Amino acid sequence: MSFENLKLIEPLLKALKTEGYTTPTPIQAQAIPIILQQRDLLGCAQTGTGKTAAFALPILQLLYNDRMAHKEQKTIKALILTPTRELAIQIAESFTNYGKHTGLRNLVIFGGVSQNPQVDALRRGVDILIATPGRLLDLMNQRHVHLDHIKMLVLDEADRMLDMGFVNDVKKIIAKVPKNRQTLFFSATMPNEIQSLADTILTKPEKIEV
Ligand code: AMP
Repeated sequence: MSFENLKLIEPLLKALKTEGYTTPTPIQAQAIPIILQQRDLLGCAQTGTGKTAAFALPILQLLYNDRMAHKEQKTIKALILTPTRELAIQIAESFTNYGKHTGLRNLVIFGGVSQNPQVDALRRGVDILIATPGRLLDLMNQRHVHLDHIKMLVLDEADRMLDMGFVNDVKKIIAKVPKNRQTLFFSATMPNEIQSLADTILTKPEKIEV
């Protein structure tokens, strides 16, 4: 199995070569074809499995292909929700590294820091937004963020978001994202509460476990 076998486009293959990745991890081999088919996904996976690239690569590919087909819009097309600032920063770095030949822009926003630079960056336009729930909701309530052009939504580490008390924020955010979207849901554990959250936001998901 190679990244070429997964039908990834040249701008991504080139970036993966720079990263020194030669072989997809099991979650990447399973998730990438499902996501490229624009199916919803329920993934039971821990950090350290290569989960970030498993969603970042196909998101970049779908948005890149869209951009080639349409004229460019300065709207957020993919939203990744993650529980902590550290995870948010790591995910944004991954999008930057894997997407460096795509021209797609990402932005990371999280709480505990001044919101002004985040607001300025939002005004300049981003394709992919990586966010912790609290700060995102603040910026939404102040009308600095509009989610009505989102085509892809990722919930990363859903069980931790629940443990950290973000469930209501997450639900409020998702209520503002168009229903006609692709949703990817990742959690290390699948207790009942997580399963029922997944049931409400996913449509006929493919399930994978690694
Ligand atoms: P993650 O589970 O997304 O936090 O990724 C764990 C680590 O594995 C990160 O440091 C990635 O850079 C690395 N990684 C992800 N996919 C691959 C791959 N296919 N080959 C080698 N390293 C990888």
